[in-house]
Amino acid sequence: MSINNYIKDLLNIKDKNIVIDTENIIVKKIKYIDTKFIYGKSTYNPKGCPCCGHVNESFNIIKYGSKTCKIKLPSISNIPTILFLKKQRFLCKECGSTFSAKTDIVSEFSNISNDVKRKIAIDLTKISSFKSIAESNDVSPNTIFRVFKEWNKSFKQDFSYLPPILSIDEFKPDEFGEIYNKIKTAISTAIKHLEKIKNTLNTNYNNGKIEGINNKIKVIKRVSYGYRSFDNFRLRVFLCFYHKKIYGLSPKT
Ligand SMILES: [Zn+2]
Repeated sequence: MSINNYIKDLLNIKDKNIVIDTENIIVKKIKYIDTKFIYGKSTYNPKGCPCCGHVNESFNIIKYGSKTCKIKLPSISNIPTILFLKKQRFLCKECGSTFSAKTDIVSEFSNISNDVKRKIAIDLTKISSFKSIAESNDVSPNTIFRVFKEWNKSFKQDFSYLPPILSIDEFKPDEFGEIYNKIKTAISTAIKHLEKIKNTLNTNYNNGKIEGINNKIKVIKRVSYGYRSFDNFRLRVFLCFYHKKIYGLSPKT
């Protein structure tokens, strides 16, 4: 295996078109923090033009300079790592459009590698604030929020069949007079079924699991000092409870 392939293997770069400059891996300071700089290039012969669909034959798609992209990779030994990837640009002589070499290590219009996004998604399943996740991944809280929102489609559920009020927990009588009446009804119902409730207490069945879930949801809310948007709060709860879905998976598109 060549040094290039060894380094790519360590960096988990599977794109065969990327070649790493093995003699130019350096450490520089960015805002007083040591940062690893890795340089590489990506080039290949495209099969066709993505704009007009013309097949690449008889030199109708030619190389047309290059563009360097700054891609954030996962930290190496806790040192933030950036890949400066020189992407080949191509010119289609048929339609006159230009396009860049594609790579699967990063999404289009993004400078955060998919591996970093996966790490952020895993961190989002743990109970910690966006700010602390941002700090541990050396990215801004806005980046965390963008990755977080990418999971929205994965947890789309239809709640239209549910009643407007799910529970009477946490309502105060002076705020909701109607709810107060419902509580009174609930109490009279409890007295009516007292014998059955006693039986429930005498058996092994309990609602510990649901109370545990309820408590965890409250902790999720507390570590982030509350959520302004209910949709975001719901998505975070799903991410924390369905974390097995996330390991090794990317958001559904
Ligand atoms: Zn074209």
